[in-house]
Amino acid sequence: MSTPSLASGPEGPDALRPLLDTVLDALTEGAGARGGPLPAGGPDEVAARVRDVVGDVLPEEGDPDALRHLVAMLAEGSADPAHTLCAAHLHCPPLAVATAADLAASALNPSMDSWDQAPAASELESLVTRSLAREVYGIPPRGAGLYRYAAPPRGATSHEAPAPANAPDALVTTGGTESNQLALLLAREALGPDVQLVCGANAHHSLPRAAWLLGLPAPVIVPTPTGTLDPAALDDVLPAGPHLVAATAGTTDAGLIDPLPEIAAVCERQHARLHVDAAYGGTLLFSARHRPKLTGLSAAATVTLDLHKLGWQPVAAGLLAVRDPADLAALRYRADYLNADDDTEAGLPDLLGRSLRTTRRPDILKIAVTLKTLGRTGLAALVDQVCDRAREFADLVQNHPGFELHDRPVISTVLFRPARVGDDAVAAVRRRLLVDGRAVLGRATLGGRLWLKATLLNPHTRLDDLAALMKLVEGNTPR
Ligand SMILES: *Cc1c(COP(=O)(O)O)cnc(C)c1O
Repeated sequence: MSTPSLASGPEGPDALRPLLDTVLDALTEGAGARGGPLPAGGPDEVAARVRDVVGDVLPEEGDPDALRHLVAMLAEGSADPAHTLCAAHLHCPPLAVATAADLAASALNPSMDSWDQAPAASELESLVTRSLAREVYGIPPRGAGLYRYAAPPRGATSHEAPAPANAPDALVTTGGTESNQLALLLAREALGPDVQLVCGANAHHSLPRAAWLLGLPAPVIVPTPTGTLDPAALDDVLPAGPHLVAATAGTTDAGLIDPLPEIAAVCERQHARLHVDAAYGGTLLFSARHRPKLTGLSAAATVTLDLHKLGWQPVAAGLLAVRDPADLAALRYRADYLNADDDTEAGLPDLLGRSLRTTRRPDILKIAVTLKTLGRTGLAALVDQVCDRAREFADLVQNHPGFELHDRPVISTVLFRPARVGDDAVAAVRRRLLVDGRAVLGRATLGGRLWLKATLLNPHTRLDDLAALMKLVEGNTPR
């Protein structure tokens, strides 16, 4: 075998072109062989097929057809979030344009730990993260120390005014989990090692896990019988601080948004720091119609966003917006080979303090391409579309005598169950559809009962598809 071709360099594109044809053909072939949202047969059958295709993982002599075979195998054995009956999780179908940009990121392979590995990518990251942080915190009033929520004026662009040094910023992360960890770390560095996490029982599990990881005191978990964090209950449990209150804008189970302005008021009165986990709901910011649901967000010291959920990015595309960039000083670190003092003084940007990772992919490229290709209007249309579809689906469920609706959707999650059956039947129908590869629905226990969860993230899903989903559930529920 001759020396394999490289993806970058003058010959990179020509080496990639035929391989991309192979990949695209294999994707088509695999999806065709699957024929539905999920491979049929369940874990044993999928595992047997993978073992069969892979064979010897590291053969003595290489196989030039490995790309085609493995890609086709993976496509056949994938849950396809672009299939209209694949709606279990916050697992979005990525936009083609974002995925194409991610290919360029792989080919160029910039590494975001020093300027000399990522000259343009580092500037792009700085531009885009500041701009997204402004979406979260609004345009700062001149000279004000604290940012208040305000919609940016129409047509305002980030190049009109250079960001002031105290402007909000955002870090790029691998997703909501890393963003929440960083939020707790920044709180610990700002308030000391005794800072205690206070969050609702509706909060994402990565928050208490981050408290454990960072060696913080055991968190206070406030019960959330109504599904959202009750500000009065929060007010009652906040003992002597220091505290980090974590509210959620878009719960994973039900897509509910905690009452942010009231929670922010409690935090202000009790001198607690506020973090908002908006991994799901954060991109409602792009929609004029849905943005008011996030009122109060700008009171948070830190905000988790996750564009690989309601942002149609391939994994990974997380962000942590930080209101006061001085908080980021806690992450400063010197490693002579990456950010020597004399290099930094000579003007080479210091990237090491923007993550706890060292080598990092330029995930900002696909995000930047998406924002600019779709614009605010295009993104808002996607957000509005999936939220509308969820509302219409909830109507369909509510008006069907064979189903129960848990509640009206706030974002794009609909919880429902077949009527007049027990939890066992609800669990069984979900598994039956999964194993048969016919539909992918999630599950959530709320109010002591098990619900089927449809998380609608596919802007191409029509109401007909969802009516077909109901028929499938109806026809497969054990009675
Ligand atoms: C998905 C989710 C997370 C975790 O995000 P990952 O990208 O999976 O790490 C955190 N919080 C909420 C509310 C989520 O829905």
